[in-house]
Amino acid sequence: MNDPRLRPESVLVHAGRPPVQAGAAVNEAITLTSTYVAGGELNYGRDGHPTTAAFEAAIAALETPPSDGSATVSTTAFASGMAAAAALVEGLPTGSVVVAPTSYYNFHRTLLAEQEALGRLTIRTVDITDTAAALAAMDGAALVWLETPTNPGLAVPDLPALTAAARAAGALSVVDATVATPLGLRPLEFGADVSMHSATKWIGGHSDLLMGLLSTADPRVHDQIRRRRTLTGAMPGALEAYLALRGLRTLSVRLERACASAAELATRLAAHPAVTSVASLADPRHPQAERVSRLLRHRGAMLSFTTDSVERADALCSRVHLITHATSLGGVESLIERRGRYDGERAQHTPPELVRLSVGIEHVEDLWDDLAQALE
Ligand SMILES: *Cc1c(COP(=O)(O)O)cnc(C)c1O
Repeated sequence: MNDPRLRPESVLVHAGRPPVQAGAAVNEAITLTSTYVAGGELNYGRDGHPTTAAFEAAIAALETPPSDGSATVSTTAFASGMAAAAALVEGLPTGSVVVAPTSYYNFHRTLLAEQEALGRLTIRTVDITDTAAALAAMDGAALVWLETPTNPGLAVPDLPALTAAARAAGALSVVDATVATPLGLRPLEFGADVSMHSATKWIGGHSDLLMGLLSTADPRVHDQIRRRRTLTGAMPGALEAYLALRGLRTLSVRLERACASAAELATRLAAHPAVTSVASLADPRHPQAERVSRLLRHRGAMLSFTTDSVERADALCSRVHLITHATSLGGVESLIERRGRYDGERAQHTPPELVRLSVGIEHVEDLWDDLAQALE
């Protein structure tokens, strides 16, 4: 199903299905096998399997820039988002320079910091919202790691400028677009070499699986990615691939509700006396508002905000009833946590009173009632 005229909301319902034939199943089966009879395309379970391939085909269809139905985007699924990130980082030759954001998903920071401590890589951190500073850091880099929007700060870099500069510097650019989802951002459209997602979040959408994704239109990069997955054994399981594909089918309707609720909650939180600042992509005063409207197709279902004290933030997380105090994001159920409880967030100076709220699909008034009583 690669009709370039279809809108993404239709693509995600129909891509990755078996051929429509009389009597055929409408869904790809959950194929449980570790090996294949010799002589075919697949040989062993670490190389790939049909359920995962169906999910990968659906994501590749979504990641293909609409203006360019001719580009062949290939997607590789991994056992988690971190397995996908590691595949890009661990394949770099020793001594490579990596440009990375000062504030982004904290386990990416930890992964790169460890590679630097091992003497394998040199990490140049830079405020990626500062385009001039980011461009100045790219000389001699092998990999430019970008995140749009960032988790938890919701910062938005000027992707076209940064990916063009990375290309000119001979560096591979990767954009972690987990928080945007493939409906919100197609990094390849803005010049990225690789688009990365944790499918654990909105794509899966039900907090019941871990999975990561790397998509690229460069066949050489795709071959390297596949090779890393095979060599490190980072294949996802067939059940996870099935659930992720099933989750993907409803992504647009889940997001529609969650994004609308997130925008409303951001407005009400900003007016609450115990809340000192709110980061929301829906806020016209977002510091990179122009980039938000130029690059992102929706305003997201994640918020972060600061309260007037760390104690207030902790009390909020322990007093919510409907919202669950738990890490992660992107599920149908709303989740809240204070990010400063992690070493990795403290290391990148995330404000200690910053609370991250992943807005689910509950009724917005029930969510507000819960937040309001917990902020008392
Ligand atoms: C969760 C997350 C990851 C890591 O993905 P896992 O599936 O948890 O390994 C990477 N990037 C972002 C932005 C995330 O939110």
